[in-house]
Amino acid sequence: MSREPIVQSTTSPVDEEDRALRPQRMEEMIGQREVYARLEIAIDAASKRSEPLGHILFDGPPGLGKTTFAMCIPRNMGVPIQIASGATLKAPKDMLPYLTNAQAGSVLFIDEIHRMPKTVEEFLYPAMEDFRVDLTLGEGVNARTINMRLKPFTLIGATTRTGIISAPLRDRFQMREHLDFYTVDELAQIVVRNAGKLQVEIDAEAAPEVAGRSRSTPRIANNRLRWIRDYAISRADGRITLPVARDALAMQEIDKLGLDRQDRKYLETIARVFDGGPVGVEAVAHTMNIPPDTLVDEVEPFLLRAELVIRTPRGRKLTPAGLEHIGLHRSDLNSGETQSRLFG
Ligand code: ADP
Repeated sequence: MSREPIVQSTTSPVDEEDRALRPQRMEEMIGQREVYARLEIAIDAASKRSEPLGHILFDGPPGLGKTTFAMCIPRNMGVPIQIASGATLKAPKDMLPYLTNAQAGSVLFIDEIHRMPKTVEEFLYPAMEDFRVDLTLGEGVNARTINMRLKPFTLIGATTRTGIISAPLRDRFQMREHLDFYTVDELAQIVVRNAGKLQVEIDAEAAPEVAGRSRSTPRIANNRLRWIRDYAISRADGRITLPVARDALAMQEIDKLGLDRQDRKYLETIARVFDGGPVGVEAVAHTMNIPPDTLVDEVEPFLLRAELVIRTPRGRKLTPAGLEHIGLHRSDLNSGETQSRLFG
């Protein structure tokens, strides 16, 4: 087995800096301590038994570290990794090269695994369970199935939605880890460390400000840090001070809770068009002219957690805090007042 992971993926130059900020080993990851501790035990036990690590499924909102964990695990184990995306695996034949190329003990990472069609999913079952694939050759009465043995490998899946993964697939993962939002403290540590990697100086009081406005995800913290770095270089002396951070965030219309324009537009749409809800997510998405999946995966998780909106059996509904955040009260709704206050 080679020591250096083989990474099969295409990255654009824009991703280069992103890659530089991504932790290379699990020890470098900040937060998610319980997940880390469980993975460490599983990795240690697998290496002591000289067996491949059991299959692992990560779920949680985007930007919380699913891919980072998936990439760090093989590095920690010193095994190769192949990377695939559920969206591009349209038929079993797309899956076959990954399976046959998998070396003993190596990792196959499938991002957005919920996007695989059923046929691909079913093709994976024997591969996951018995390291075998069943190939059908020929058609009709001449059709026959041959079994092909695979090397024992570890499948790591990532999804923003465990809810839509079928039970048979879900149950074939020995470990299922849910990644939750980060605390401001953890994000501040990430911001400080990554400011170092980006070679920009940051004042101690500025880091929690950036962290607190990051909607609790490391990806957003990194994006905001890079913007503030650019702002500091262009509009100040290159150092990130508290006022520089605040001005840079204000210029991007990021508010005190860290919400951006799209987040506020979501709250405002429910308030203005749907009288505060309850309203189905499709209707909101339609009005905002964005795909419902974007709302569900990227916009809603943080707003739900921040209790600005709640899910009811009849749909999404703004909470008093959600209304207040966009400068409204319950009494403003359905009064004609809403429209003029928000969009007047
Ligand atoms: P996901 O796959 O869940 O969408 P990623 O693993 O791509 O999220 O994480 C997004 C970015 O956030 C990464 O590039 C990395 O820089 C950063 N990141 C994620 N988790 C951590 C962590 N635990 N510690 C430090 N940085 C992290």
